[in-house]
Amino acid sequence: MNILLIGSGGREHALAWRLAQSPRLDTLFAAPGNPGIAEHAQIAELDTADHRAVIDFVRRQQIGLVVVGPEAPLVEGLADNVRAIGVPVFGPGREAAKLEGSKGFTKDLCARVGIPTARYFRVTSRDGALACLDDFADGDTCRCVIKADGLAAGKGVTVAMSRDEAEAAIRDLFAHGPAEAVIEEFLEGEEASLFVLSDGTGSASFGSAQDHKRVGDGDTGANTGGMGAYSPAACLSPQDEERALGEIVRPTIDALAAAGTPYVGVLYAGLMLTADGPKLIEYNVRFGDPECQVLMARFDGDLVQVLLAVAEGRLADLPAPRFRDEIALTVVMAARGYPGTPETGGAIRGISDAEAGGARVFQAGTRLQDGQLVASGGRVLAVTATGDSVRAAQTAAYAAVDRIDFPTGFCRRDIGWREIAREDE
Ligand code: ATP
Repeated sequence: MNILLIGSGGREHALAWRLAQSPRLDTLFAAPGNPGIAEHAQIAELDTADHRAVIDFVRRQQIGLVVVGPEAPLVEGLADNVRAIGVPVFGPGREAAKLEGSKGFTKDLCARVGIPTARYFRVTSRDGALACLDDFADGDTCRCVIKADGLAAGKGVTVAMSRDEAEAAIRDLFAHGPAEAVIEEFLEGEEASLFVLSDGTGSASFGSAQDHKRVGDGDTGANTGGMGAYSPAACLSPQDEERALGEIVRPTIDALAAAGTPYVGVLYAGLMLTADGPKLIEYNVRFGDPECQVLMARFDGDLVQVLLAVAEGRLADLPAPRFRDEIALTVVMAARGYPGTPETGGAIRGISDAEAGGARVFQAGTRLQDGQLVASGGRVLAVTATGDSVRAAQTAAYAAVDRIDFPTGFCRRDIGWREIAREDE
């Protein structure tokens, strides 16, 4: 079978690496791809925002499965357009992708179905937003979270710890006129990510991970797309996972199926593990990046078989997906300046040395310049290793990081710190 993989990040490099191992695969095509993905796939010269061009390519190359990595093409309806010509797609259609594309849509669905999540207001004006702050005031404090409604690559959210901060975020959000936003209750707890495959009606748990969003050690500094992750997330107990599946994820999949807009793909539930049990913070309609890298490092099976069964609505025919009983940990190496303006063009050497010790280096913002690999974006590499504890996986990942010569790059040095602190107790 020929497969087309859409995307160009570390997530897609990890998917390409696993897809390429399947005996079911004839040719893997990727668009836009990157030099790492090109080691496993033929790069297709294709504008993925041009759905007609994608469809022509799918027909011409007799593609039997399209795997969509990032959220933007899903929110834009690429999966619907490809399905319309009868080709299976791993990824939800436009309506189901609103789970990520519109925070208001997800909150309303949660309210309708009774899914545990933060109490919220949907607002469309500055005055309306300011007025609902009273609801979150508690004596002198006013803790709440202000979220722009649409896709904002992690930059549309302010966690406000005081009324002043909340008011400033609201003024910012409405500085250029009307906007849509959600203002919600601040939830206390530890965060974990749960991944669930859904073929429209059936579902299967596909592992857990914990991400590190802040740019600096100790979870300090600006928010990023993710500076590292490990899997599984030990803080998500089997009981909490069962609760999250039963109270949050399955009711969501059922609600979308009942609405005639079934969810097909991987549903990524961002959970807050509160004293009252897991609550939904957000949904993403694709694998996380860098969470995908650690899931793929542990996945034990034929990825083509699994993704195709999801896309064709045959999940029930498969045994539950299996993962190796070890910890995987990934460290993101970013270009200096990220998450602001990254310094691009810096040379990267030593990837094969890093991999010689057993680690895997997934590429994201890279390109070849006169035969030399250089940085071309903010997050550049995801250096991934496994071990029988988080500490062992961390040691192996940083040993690999230290073999990479990337003078204009940087990384956090503490990925996995929460879990390592618990392991040391
Ligand atoms: P991402 O790009 O990470 O998917 P996003 O822009 O979709 O982010 P959210 O995931 O909803 O936004 O929020 C980003 C972060 O803000 C969360 O990972 C969490 O740390 C924090 N956060 C969001 N909602 C809450 C809440 N209700 N209580 C406490 N913290 C929250």
